[in-house]
Amino acid sequence: MKQNEYRQGYDFLYSRKGFAPGEGLNCCYYCGLLADEIDHSFPLIYLHGLLKAGEYVPHSRLIIVPSCHECNGILASHVFPNLSMRKRYLKKRLRGRYRKLLSMPDWSESDYKEMSPRLIENIEMHLVKKKLIQERLAY
Ligand SMILES: [Zn+2]
Repeated sequence: MKQNEYRQGYDFLYSRKGFAPGEGLNCCYYCGLLADEIDHSFPLIYLHGLLKAGEYVPHSRLIIVPSCHECNGILASHVFPNLSMRKRYLKKRLRGRYRKLLSMPDWSESDYKEMSPRLIENIEMHLVKKKLIQERLAY
């Protein structure tokens, strides 16, 4: 059994939060995108080590939530006292990662008059991305 598979065996210790009943699709607990991964509020890698050393980890710290790939990757093995602090940290990191996009001005139809169709298409694509990031931050 690989190290990673061994750690996955601790999943039963975690309580689940933010999962849709049955097999329904879930939203990322942190940003609302479609979730395709699971985030362990207390990273499995540390839990494994602590339990092996005979340490106690309060059950209230062990929560799994649905997560998108990006949020799960940002949070990785960071440890926070609770989920809301974890979420706050995530939003701060997203704001930093998309700083340029978020500072992009909101162009309007009248701004497009002397622009090439290709430039307009490019701007509109970025505005869609900006709106998505804003929605993720507001989630
Ligand atoms: Zn997410």
